[in-house]
Amino acid sequence: MQAAVVQYALEPLAVELREITVPEIGPDDVLLRVGAVSVCGSDVHQAYNTHSWHVNVPVVLGHEFGGTVAETGRAVTSVREGDRVVSETAAEICGECLLCRTGRYNLCPHRKGFGYGIDGAMASYVKVPARCLHRIPDSLPFELACLAEPHAVAFNAMCVNSTIRPGDLVVVLGPGPIGLLCVRMAALAGANPLIVVGLSSDAARLETARRLGATDVVDAGRESVEEMVRALNPLGADLVCDASGASRPLDLALKLVRPDGQVTKVGWSPDSMAIDINPLVQKNVRLQGSFSHNFPIWERVIHLLDRRLTLPDAIVGMTSPLAAWREAFDAMHDGRVIKSVLIP
Ligand SMILES: [Zn+2]
Ligand SMILES: [Zn+2]
Repeated sequence: MQAAVVQYALEPLAVELREITVPEIGPDDVLLRVGAVSVCGSDVHQAYNTHSWHVNVPVVLGHEFGGTVAETGRAVTSVREGDRVVSETAAEICGECLLCRTGRYNLCPHRKGFGYGIDGAMASYVKVPARCLHRIPDSLPFELACLAEPHAVAFNAMCVNSTIRPGDLVVVLGPGPIGLLCVRMAALAGANPLIVVGLSSDAARLETARRLGATDVVDAGRESVEEMVRALNPLGADLVCDASGASRPLDLALKLVRPDGQVTKVGWSPDSMAIDINPLVQKNVRLQGSFSHNFPIWERVIHLLDRRLTLPDAIVGMTSPLAAWREAFDAMHDGRVIKSVLIP
């Protein structure tokens, strides 16, 4: 038996530490001894039942993790017992569809991810298909390696699904964990000016945004981001990334973007609302969604993390044992820390 953080119902705060059995592995799986698992905004959403995706309860939370291979299935040849690895999140895919066959398995219609569709890693041991694993260098501790997943989300949004050239005016809406990692990726890609927009309650996160490379930060409750953007370039922003996790800011993004510019939406929420999309046509704007990540993105972000190019220490605000999961979730929910990491 092992302790695990389990979401057991689709109600607010229906999450608890439970004793569950250590999973049995199949021929293509490995059993991973979890080294560290970071808390995602989506784990917190599930805990408060404010998520916008289907959750198979009961389910062990946690999809941002790394660990040591404890046991391998008999068909596994890519990793060995004792290897240090991180795991991608697409726990189940069909392997047969066009998207799977072209390496875009993150978009497979049959995809099920850890922590909502399949038991995740907020436990001592997790069962993982070997195809999900990436080996990591010894110089990269699990406490930072577990951030590979949100790094991959941000890399996909800013460096694959968006085009940023040095000197581009980029605006990021929403300084949550993904927004801040998008800021860092944009900074590494050469965005300048790089404006981050938050609320008064985001003061500490906006300060972190500066450390990560933002040239300007805006408290949208007190200042006009539109005025700031127009002062820098009367045409508007080359790229607006909406990482706010809400639907309404898309309106603002379409206002801020320049003609022939791009809006990338990486945050989402269950609210659907009427938004004026005429600027999309009138300004010839590209509106791009960004979801998840795939193999080459993971290899790249492991390199960025290992070199500390993304300043991951600035992101982790709390490291706790699994039993203190509630405090770790609350600290993120209240905005006291950007990211909490659990050590099972
Ligand atoms: Zn995540
Ligand atoms: Zn598929």
